[in-house]
Amino acid sequence: MTPDELCPLCGGTVAEVRGLMHWSEYDGVGGTILGGRCSACDTDLRRRVARGESPAWRALVPPPELLRAAVSAEELPALTARFERVTLFGQWWAEFLAYRQPGDEVWRFTGVDGTEGFAIVRQGRPLTQFLTPDPDFERGLLEREAKQSRSA
Ligand SMILES: [Zn+2]
Repeated sequence: MTPDELCPLCGGTVAEVRGLMHWSEYDGVGGTILGGRCSACDTDLRRRVARGESPAWRALVPPPELLRAAVSAEELPALTARFERVTLFGQWWAEFLAYRQPGDEVWRFTGVDGTEGFAIVRQGRPLTQFLTPDPDFERGLLEREAKQSRSA
């Protein structure tokens, strides 16, 4: 096994490998995005297999220094309600929460470009992440809902 095939964080073997996306290009050559989970440190991993790109696994996590605060258990239902209004995000959020094991926490983080995200954190180490919908899109959705409830 080459280093490219192992977890970039701990060198563990990658389990639960599955195809997430595949695309074709005009000349018939395409690429694939694979997902996996490190069997040793349990980090969520992605790998792009495409021409001209490194096929190494990458950890789908924010750098720990971007973590801001733990989300309380009381706040989670409101976040679930928020993301369930946006197509696909409700499902992604449910999959994100399903990553947790007893004792894991949900933390809020701010990406280097200002995006809002959440991470599952185990003993201070982020294991996977969820990025929130585009803020302009969410604002538009709320405005449409408010308009509809006024006219109803
Ligand atoms: Zn690992």
